[in-house]
Amino acid sequence: MNILVTGGAGFIGSNFVFHMLKEHPTYRVVCLDALTYAGNLSTLEPVMENGNFKFVKGDITDRELVEKLFKEEKFDFVVNFAAESHVDRSIEDPGIFLKTNILGTQVLMDASRKYGVKRFHQVSTDEVYGDLPLDRPDLFFTEETPIHTSSPYSASKASADLLVQAYHRTFGLPITISRCSNNYGPYHFPEKLIPLMISRALNDENLPVYGKGENVRDWLYVGDHCTAIDLILHKGKEGEVYNIGGHNEKTNLDVVKAILNELEKPESLITYVKDRAGHDMRYAIDPSKTRKELGWEPTTLFDEGIKETIKWYLDNRSWWENIISGDYKDYYVKMYGDR
Ligand code: NAD
Repeated sequence: MNILVTGGAGFIGSNFVFHMLKEHPTYRVVCLDALTYAGNLSTLEPVMENGNFKFVKGDITDRELVEKLFKEEKFDFVVNFAAESHVDRSIEDPGIFLKTNILGTQVLMDASRKYGVKRFHQVSTDEVYGDLPLDRPDLFFTEETPIHTSSPYSASKASADLLVQAYHRTFGLPITISRCSNNYGPYHFPEKLIPLMISRALNDENLPVYGKGENVRDWLYVGDHCTAIDLILHKGKEGEVYNIGGHNEKTNLDVVKAILNELEKPESLITYVKDRAGHDMRYAIDPSKTRKELGWEPTTLFDEGIKETIKWYLDNRSWWENIISGDYKDYYVKMYGDR
């Protein structure tokens, strides 16, 4: 099996590369990544010398490069993680989200059709379903929940999902789509809630929490997301959408307090900042189809996963310190002020 993993120098993609090389030692894994601000080649250092792994620097919207790669490699599976992924950035500048997330997906699917890929898997998000009210804890997103997006990010991911389904219906491209809840774990870029709070708390800096911190997210350890995608690739039915989530709902404030508690830092570090425009209130995934049809079960409880994640950030300080000292510093000041 020869697998293309796009966006493999990012958070979930890199964890997936590690997972596939470990769980399928006979598979070859090629990573295509443009190394945007969110991609980090040092993340892939542990596998750079692995004979079954190859890194290619390139943009998924570059049709010529993509076609050449597909022609040379004759991929069996394509797993598309490559995306602009940060909601706040999509509010600042939506254009690149449309280009990478929608047009990039089209370029990959055209090459997949042309070179007879056996499965094109699109990594999507629960954010395509919009949000749920806080006072209806009985409601969950199923695969039948209508698409109803809030941010330019979620609209670009939903657009790509629709295009992927259209390529299946119109051209018979063998596709699957997964829609996962919020992930956390090692190699998560420190602009996202959990690594942002860990890295700032470790430096005794203020922790910016949007609004009152009441927004609810459904957290899943990244390793559990990787096992689900692996199962979907091998056992999932062509043309189907699979929801992935671990029923781990927490308010943002609860998550921040759990991190402070684990690091033995004071809650006085919390600073409430102006809420994000269009901020979704609650995400909650119903993963029963994926569980029943594929036998998938998440294995990492939030309390254990957050401890492991904090330990990783403690043990790998140089990884995130390099990131937060660069261009990212200017971005942080722009978003939250110089606090
Ligand atoms: P990330 O931002 O950490 O990584 C994205 C990677 O894609 C980076 O390595 C970046 O360099 C690369 N990339 C960006 N534009 C590219 C382009 N034009 N060509 C090639 N490579 C490009 O993102 P992530 O959090 O790992 O998310 C990966 C995927 O999973 C995304 O599609 C996202 O929508 C989806 N997803 C994320 C979450 C989450 O909680 N993080 C949850 C559900 C779904």
